[in-house]
Formats: sequence, C-alpha cells, structure tokens
Amino acid sequence: MNIKFIQQLLIIILCMGSVYAQDSYKRNDNADVQHYKFDLSLNDDSNEILGQTQITVNFEKVTDTFAIDLIGKTEGFGMELLDVLEGEEKANYTYKNNKILVIPSSEGGRLRKYSIKYKGVPGKGLVIDATKYGQRSFFGDNWPNLARHWLACVDHPYDKASVEFNIMAPEHYDVIATGKKIEESNMGNGLKLTRYHEPAPVATKVMTIGVTKFASSYLGSYGGIEVSAWVYPENRLEGFTDFEEATNILEYFSSNIGPYSYAKLANMQAKTKWGGLENAGTISYKETLITGNKEIQGLMAHEIAHQWFGNSATENSWNHVWLSEGFATYFTILYLEEVYGNERRKKELATDREEIFEYYVKNPSPIIDLLIKDPKKVLNRNTYQKGGWVLNMLRHRLGDEIFWKGIKSYYATYQNSNVMSVDFQNQMEKVSGEDLQEFFDQWLYVKGYPELKWDWKYNKGKLKISVKQLQKHHTFKFPIEFGIVTGDEIRIEAIQVNEKTTKFEIELEDSPDKVEIDPEFWLLYQEK
Ligand SMILES: [Zn+2]
Repeated sequence: MNIKFIQQLLIIILCMGSVYAQDSYKRNDNADVQHYKFDLSLNDDSNEILGQTQITVNFEKVTDTFAIDLIGKTEGFGMELLDVLEGEEKANYTYKNNKILVIPSSEGGRLRKYSIKYKGVPGKGLVIDATKYGQRSFFGDNWPNLARHWLACVDHPYDKASVEFNIMAPEHYDVIATGKKIEESNMGNGLKLTRYHEPAPVATKVMTIGVTKFASSYLGSYGGIEVSAWVYPENRLEGFTDFEEATNILEYFSSNIGPYSYAKLANMQAKTKWGGLENAGTISYKETLITGNKEIQGLMAHEIAHQWFGNSATENSWNHVWLSEGFATYFTILYLEEVYGNERRKKELATDREEIFEYYVKNPSPIIDLLIKDPKKVLNRNTYQKGGWVLNMLRHRLGDEIFWKGIKSYYATYQNSNVMSVDFQNQMEKVSGEDLQEFFDQWLYVKGYPELKWDWKYNKGKLKISVKQLQKHHTFKFPIEFGIVTGDEIRIEAIQVNEKTTKFEIELEDSPDKVEIDPEFWLLYQEK
C-alpha cells in the first residue's frame, strides 16, 4: 500500500461521511423515530418546566447508539436529566454535550420506547414571557433547532414523526398545540390537562404549543380541514378579521398542489422572534402584526404555503432550505397573482430582484451554499427571493400547464416525506420530458445571474438586437423575451442565449417605437 493510495483512500472515506456532508448534524444511521409523546407541566410560580418525552423508535439495526438531543443545564437555564428508560427498564446511556447517547439493550425487537424525564428552565425554544398586554404566556418557537431546549428529541428535519402533546397547566390557561385536540380535562386541583395529537409526521422545527389566555374562533373549512384563529382576547376582533382569508388561501393551495397534511389550520397570535413561523397546522404570527387592517395577507400566504413546502415535503439537508423558503416565497406570489392579476406578480418579482442584487454584492454565493454549516445562516435572499425567482423561470420554461402538473406530482410523491433538490428536478423532468440539468445547475449551484448589456437598432426592414453577458465567472444559458412596441401594440419575440454575446435579427416593416427587454418578468438578470 503506498502513500498515494492511502491519500486517495482518505479522500474517499472523507467524502463518504454523508451525502448531506455540509449540514453538520450527526444523524442516527439505523434508527427512525416513529412517534413523540411530550408530557409537559407548566406553572405560574416559576419558569421551570417538568417534561417527559416518550420516543417510539424503529431500529433497522439495534447495535448502534441512538442519540437524542436535550440541552443540559448551565447558568440557570437548560434541562436537568432525571431518568432515561427503555421500556420499563433503566436504559444504558450517557449524557454529555447536550446529547443523550443510548445503547439499546441486546434484547427486544426493532420497535423500542424510550422515556426521558427532565426538568429545568428553557433558555430558548419555549418562550415564557408576558404578552404585549402583560399576560403570562408560553409559546414554542423552535426553528431551526431550538426544540432540544425544552423537548428531548432528534432535533433535525430529516427525522419526522407523529406527535402528541399532553400539557398540564393552571386551569385559567387556554392551550393549543400541534395536532387535533383530543382531550381537555379539568383535574380538580387547579390544573387542566389538554392533549393534542398530530398523526402526520412533523419536523421538530415546526412543532409548537401556545399557552395563554386566548380568544379563538372557527373561520371556515376546506377539504375537511378546520381553519381557526387563536388571538389575544384584547385583539379578538382585529385577529379574527386579519385571519379571515386563511380559508381562501388553504383552498387555493389545496386545489392547486394537493391535499393539506395536518389535522387543522390554526392561525395563532404569538410571541415569536419571527414575523411568522410556519409551525405545522398551528402557525405563529408575531403579536404586533395583528392590527385588523389585513396587512398580513402576504405573510399568511407564505406561512400557509409552507405547510406543503418545508413542512410536508421537507428539505433533507439544511443546505436545501430553498425547497422550503423559495417555494413559500413563490407560492405567495402565485396566490397574489391569482387574487390581483399578473401585474402583481411582476411587481413582487421586481422588488425581490432588487433585493437579490443588493445581497449578491455583499454575498456572492449560490442558492445551495455548501459552505454554510450552521442552519441559522441558511435564511437569506438566495434561499427566499432567488429561490422564488428560480421557480418563476422554471414555470416560464415549462409553461403553466406542465409546471403545475410537475408541482402536483412532486408533492404527491413527497408529501409527509423528505426531499433534496435533485428529487424536485427529477419530478419536473419526468413530467415535462425535458433535461433540466443545466437549468438547475446554473440557478442553484452557480452564484449570481446574467448581467446584461443590450441594445437594438432598426435598419431597412431589420430589427437587430444584441445581448452581452458581462459577468465573468459563468456564461448563463437562458431564453429571453423582447417586447417590440409600436403604438399600443406589443409583439413578443423570444430568443435563446447560450453565449457571452448573442446577436439576432427580426424582419420588421417599420421601425418600432421602442424595444423592451423581458417585459413579462420571466428572467432573473441585471441590466448594466
Ligand atoms: Zn418562510
């Protein structure tokens, strides 16, 4: 064995580490969580919670260590681990670096249940704070990986599971959580037990609870899914008005993409560090955004679109988060286009395009940026706005009919599952019969966009247009449209650009009044 061979072997071994290598979360190789049962006790005397998580896990091989995330106690915050059981017996485990490492016993089948008991004051993830009206409240705010601060779990979206929340809290609270309410019992000792169950698999990033005084109202339903508003009593009418449109949005996405995945669609006014957080079936909206003036229409469409993209068809690696955010961004635009027409689509894309340019100057990176290892850094103009633009360009390339057929097929294939960008590409290729490799390569893995200098000339029956790509790092290939304007009439001509410089001619009887580049907003480019 020579040195060179060892070097090569080392390289191969390093590359084999994981296909999701850049996303640095260490996965459980042979264990798949099936179900979580989270028992939580909340009180008014302190912010300490008492928790018991029961994890049902399916082992493909029972030989491996099974790792569970739980943030340990430091400086007054975090959880003190009290006990870990496998079935009824004490489990063989160690607890360090915020990981419970269980070694499964040699006896027992592939399906095991672990119970983890703990208590402590969550530093993050469960926000225990007064509402803007001074009411005590508890809100789950997990995205991207804060569930482990208050729930013992496999805290990465690759391993989704059905979930049950059993919440014991003083009886004066109203309690909502991920799933369908299956019990509300006054325990007679000043406490109330409220239980919710969600049978669909949910990623920990979008599991939540809301515990405070609520005003709640039924808003409508579509496809058997109940839509509701849960708002502070002080904002009762404003909140019910703001969330009224949620049923229409549910109907639009359900009928165009496919069936909604969760037990309900609740819209909750909440303490959250985000404007909105797409928690599965129980969406959080920042408390100050509820005004009664319907200013959250776009935000609602975004968070509701996430129920399909991000929540149900979930990115398998944080580096592919555009499958969540880019989709939510573009499906918001599609909803607004449905309500207000095509001009609104163009207006939204124009705004997004400016933001992409501004971001690119400081952050010249592609949508799938494999240099990012921390999930807190994956949210940016590339994954939102540029991701949305990619879908707009794909729609134009395939045409509306094939685009929507592809979207439906993608969702039908990956509902309640996990996806990578290549899975989306494969579905769109299958439905369209087109090779989209170059399209996805240049828009997802290459930084930037075409920076174009162009002009037109008319001479003796010929319109001559030239297009030059000025960016140095890559020659993009794309179709581009020109609008030839004469009086009130506009004639659209499309050409394919494959080179740094492209020139073409159109036979035209008279000189046009003007020529417009990309009048219908189908190409992400910057005019130079
Ligand atoms: Zn989003």
